[in-house]
Amino acid sequence: MKTSCKKHIFLPLILLLSIQQLSFKKAITQDKDERRLSVVVIDPGHGGKDPGTVGGKVQEKDVVLDIALKLGNQIKNEFPEVNVVYTRKSDVFIPLHKRADIANKNNADLFISIHANAVEQSYVYGTETFVLGQHRSEDNLEVAKKENSVILLEDDYTNTYEGFDPNSSESYIMFELVQDEYKEQSISLANRVQNEFRERAMRKDRSVKEAGFLVLRRTTMPSVLIETGFLSNATERNYLGSENGRQNMAAAIFRAFKAYKAEVEQKSSFHLATNDVKPQPVPRPVEATKKENTSQPTVTETKATKANDLFYSVQIAALKKKLDTTPENFEGLTNVFREDAEKLSRYFSGKYKSLKEAELQLETIKKKYPSAFVVAFLNNQLISVKMALELEK
Ligand SMILES: [Zn+2]
Repeated sequence: MKTSCKKHIFLPLILLLSIQQLSFKKAITQDKDERRLSVVVIDPGHGGKDPGTVGGKVQEKDVVLDIALKLGNQIKNEFPEVNVVYTRKSDVFIPLHKRADIANKNNADLFISIHANAVEQSYVYGTETFVLGQHRSEDNLEVAKKENSVILLEDDYTNTYEGFDPNSSESYIMFELVQDEYKEQSISLANRVQNEFRERAMRKDRSVKEAGFLVLRRTTMPSVLIETGFLSNATERNYLGSENGRQNMAAAIFRAFKAYKAEVEQKSSFHLATNDVKPQPVPRPVEATKKENTSQPTVTETKATKANDLFYSVQIAALKKKLDTTPENFEGLTNVFREDAEKLSRYFSGKYKSLKEAELQLETIKKKYPSAFVVAFLNNQLISVKMALELEK
């Protein structure tokens, strides 16, 4: 499909395309087709001396390797142009930082880490997909602790991970303010994975979650960590221990991958909104004006002028580009504001006194920006939602 004439055809589109891919992939090698999701790194957790979690005779390292290989084969079959890279293809131990290095060095467009879970309570079961962020519950922290603790098997982990102690809750403070450029894409894939698990593989959906995973922190592309089920639960252990079960899980992740790939390769409404090739927006006089004057009348706006001012908002985008926060640029949203960091501008919609109000608005905003999420501000500085809730007490 990639013929030598592609440069001819797409030259006029180069600017447009690079903007479309803005938040998707940054500096890539010159010969790489920027419009395509062309490299995926699949990371089966654990391996070798590290079995991961174990339930009966079923070991996490074996389950996740098989799912990973099945997933990779499906991708190769349907998308032969996609380069599938594995962090391991056999039963070997790979340090956590090396897994991220493999993804970064290969200029991956996507990183998928596959794991299985276990807890003391054998009745707990279901699937969950994590993106890098701040844990909202102790359970989520426990998953991150468990997965991160594999570094203890590495020589010199103290130096490699700059003193990070995977078992100490304090170590996880560093994840509180993590805002990564690829979070929206990561959440988009994570949502698709969980939907497929629920709707097609008929697995229990324990939802998309955030926590501080070292392996995700070190990758520089959209990335997710999938917990395919609990080996501590007999039914789920039997399912993941079976060829059929692993095939179903791989197929579900594949369908999510396929849909995600289509999403990032097509013009989304979001990308259209941020396209500066056509700086003059198509006028929408009646609709837009009407909306501007009347939209969201129920929103409680706080005036962020007082000291110690705490409010919630909805992050709709993070881009390298500074856009005017006019409704035309943001699907008619009238209450968008921007925070500029060194390399990134973040765009938020609304200022709300309570998390509940923000979450209510999030539902509406998600129809336009599916990967939007709630954030909190203190004195106009981003803080974690968890911290905001603590301060409200
Ligand atoms: Zn694991």
